[in-house]
Amino acid sequence: MASVSPGLPGGSGGSDGLVLVLNSGSSSVKFALLAPETGERLIAGIGERLGTPEAVLRIQQFPAAAVEERLPGGSHLAVVTRVLDRLAVEYPGVHLLGAGHRVVHGGERFTSSIRVDDSVMAAVRSCSHLAPLHNPANLAGIEAVRSVLPDLPQVAVFDTAFHQTMPPHAFRYAVPEEWYTDYGVRRYGFHGISHRFVSEQAAALLGRPLRDLRLVTVHLGNGCSAAAVRDGVSVDTTMGLTPLDGLVMGTRSGDVDPGVLGYMAERTGMDAGQLTRVLNLDSGLQGLSGVGNDMRTIEAAAAEGNERARLALEVFVYRLSKAIAGLVVGLERLDALVFTGGIGENSAVVRSLVLSQLGFLGLAEDTQANADHGRRTGGRISLAGPVLALVVPTDEELLIARDTARVLTGG
Ligand code: AMP
Repeated sequence: MASVSPGLPGGSGGSDGLVLVLNSGSSSVKFALLAPETGERLIAGIGERLGTPEAVLRIQQFPAAAVEERLPGGSHLAVVTRVLDRLAVEYPGVHLLGAGHRVVHGGERFTSSIRVDDSVMAAVRSCSHLAPLHNPANLAGIEAVRSVLPDLPQVAVFDTAFHQTMPPHAFRYAVPEEWYTDYGVRRYGFHGISHRFVSEQAAALLGRPLRDLRLVTVHLGNGCSAAAVRDGVSVDTTMGLTPLDGLVMGTRSGDVDPGVLGYMAERTGMDAGQLTRVLNLDSGLQGLSGVGNDMRTIEAAAAEGNERARLALEVFVYRLSKAIAGLVVGLERLDALVFTGGIGENSAVVRSLVLSQLGFLGLAEDTQANADHGRRTGGRISLAGPVLALVVPTDEELLIARDTARVLTGG
């Protein structure tokens, strides 16, 4: 093992109470060291292509530019070791409060963030069948930190936890009871960290208590989901047992008639694994448009007259608008629609089309404000009225850092 960071944790002097946030995927780890109160980043970066000879670590120490290091064959452990070494050298007196991890699936067991111990790790492992690509990778990140700094407290922050407040009529599917009781088939929902963060930010922006607000939050990135947030808690969402459900996404289909699976299995001979792959990787904006999965490419091609790109944009907007209107059923009143994620924060085109489709709900675009607001500056993009639309940049790392600090300090 590389030299263990001697100044961490618990050094005195320097900044106080920083949190290392990790988002571990199967072949990548995103990391950031930040102050939970202010969101200030000291270091951030990503290790990619882990486990291959091309593994690389990109690390940025603010305000300097990012530098790249090769880590041939490097694993999650190699990245964590390198990052913690770097912290010890660059910030010798820093007090590292703990590490916060994004964990994708907490099943029905985890309804909030929790300090990691052996029993939590076992429970996260037991949810792995629900997220076979993600939970084992999240655990690899936790284990890597533990092996470098065994005494550093760690906190798991779940993508599913925010949606555990959904009532049964929203989370149950109309399938045989045993599918739920024996196999856990129900709607869990994802992107909970983002939906929760932007709900809190929206309340601050509106200057109203979150407990009195009825919001639909739409996270539109590579993956897309919408949530109904009633008095601060999620009461419905578009993603289900898996993140394939609901809205049209970059390469994911979102809702399709489940009969399509049997039909296509018979017609093509594809098995369940192959069909699932096509619905996850070759569908969505990519499948419809044929020009790519990136909304910027779709918008540009549609503007140049590409019919398939125009249709992809129309399907995306129509399905999203239909989902938003449907989520209002669980709210019984809509106070604000909140856009976030790469598309939600950057695409004035998508926002404008959605607001015009949803005019019957009382939403009316403020064209200038919609053009002005985006990733850098959130704000209201609708005309004043009983139902507002906002852009709120998401910051999942900051929410993970805040939860980690709160769980560890009992705040
Ligand atoms: P995220 O996963 O939240 O980082 O979002 C990534 C997606 O945001 C990309 O795949 C693009 O589709 C979309 N995106 C980013 N910038 C823009 C932009 N200026 N206009 C439209 N879409 C954008």
